[in-house]
Amino acid sequence: MASIARVLIVGGGIAGQTLAVALARRGIFCETVEIKPDFQIVGAGMYVQGNALRALREIGVVEAIVERGWHPADDRFFTADVNGARLAHSRVPRIAGPELPATVTIRRRVLHDILQEAVGRTGVRVRMGATVAAIDDDPAAAGVAVRFSDGTADIFDLVVGADGIRSSVRTMLFGRSDPVFTGYANWRVTLPKPADLDAITWMMGRGKSLGIIPIAADHLYLAGVTKEPGNPRYDRAELPRLMREKFAEFGGAAPALLVQVQRPEQVVYTAIEEVTQPAPWHRGRVVLVGDAVHASAPFWAQGASMAIEDVIVLAELIATGRPAEDILPQWMARRYDRAVWVQQGSLETGERGHREGPGVYEAITAYLAANMPKEVAARFAKFAEPI
Ligand SMILES: Cc1cc2nc3c(=O)[nH]c(=O)nc-3n(C[C@H](O)[C@H](O)[C@H](O)COP(=O)(O)OP(=O)(O)OC[C@H]3O[C@@H](n4cnc5c(N)ncnc54)[C@H](O)[C@@H]3O)c2cc1C
Repeated sequence: MASIARVLIVGGGIAGQTLAVALARRGIFCETVEIKPDFQIVGAGMYVQGNALRALREIGVVEAIVERGWHPADDRFFTADVNGARLAHSRVPRIAGPELPATVTIRRRVLHDILQEAVGRTGVRVRMGATVAAIDDDPAAAGVAVRFSDGTADIFDLVVGADGIRSSVRTMLFGRSDPVFTGYANWRVTLPKPADLDAITWMMGRGKSLGIIPIAADHLYLAGVTKEPGNPRYDRAELPRLMREKFAEFGGAAPALLVQVQRPEQVVYTAIEEVTQPAPWHRGRVVLVGDAVHASAPFWAQGASMAIEDVIVLAELIATGRPAEDILPQWMARRYDRAVWVQQGSLETGERGHREGPGVYEAITAYLAANMPKEVAARFAKFAEPI
């Protein structure tokens, strides 16, 4: 059984780019194949939580993330009622070290650019506009034979499926399984940030919620959650009006921001889906990471963190020089429980916060006012555990 000297990464997203840099820094050959001809990053902003920052220290991009993103100076995160009145705040611990913020919020495009620049510095080849057409992992063969969509072929010691929620590698390994709609949708828009708005606040409404999240000195994103029974397909032209209407009940800073949502291209509407893949997440010398195998609802804002942790652990194990057959079960042992805990906890938090019915709103807001800080502290204590 040979050590892993050549790795193919399928997917140049957050997990794929992080893995490429982590492997290159350890002197392990890899190449990436990305289906998009160029990176059109859909989305507004995102949280890069402390456990992701800790993992990303390994690839030397944390300073750029802190510099080009935003964070509250005192690491406090607020929960508010539908009128914008504060119910509670959580002071999130600094997992990545005392000198780094607890969490950074950043434009998705900027995070992608930082990772892409880091890949560029390594010289790792990224084939754009191509994918894998077939994977032949004959145990008797010295390596995994891969045929690409452009007709070329090559042999690798390990193939990593980092190809996101609709992973083709997952289908090749385990047969087709579509992501499951959770019943919720997310409405996101990036807007100019008023100079005096300097806090991250989630407002709880009746069966819906709205976050106001700075992502740079001059920008913020609004992230709203609604229940969408039947997973409707909205006409793109209607999205600004629908977003304004659906969140019209929110007060505080919301009305002055929502009124700026006027153009269809401003609004990113996403039906929230999950991937729950039974263990093991590998077969032979092929493994799935990130959303390809455990895409979760974003109520804990941890999907990218889990994807990043997945590949940092994988790179560490690959660098031990042991064969795929040895390291993949170890990788599972270090990743499965944690990723499933996030997936289940995140959805439970979302479901608890978006219930409806007589007296429910009052019960939810009273619960959050009383319990939010200790619940967040307990959750982040677990995120702080070594991976
Ligand atoms: C509304 C919403 C808000 C979120 N907010 C947060 C947040 O605040 N913080 C957080 O940590 N997470 C958040 N997440 C989750 C986060 O976006 C994902 O968990 C993360 O992007 C997963 O990274 P990935 O690399 O596994 O997949 P992706 O980022 O999806 O990357 C997959 C890549 O593979 C490529 N690809 C697809 N198919 C193929 C193929 N066949 N061949 C080659 N390439 C292929 C894609 O083009 C893409 O570049 C949120 C998710 C949603 C839906």
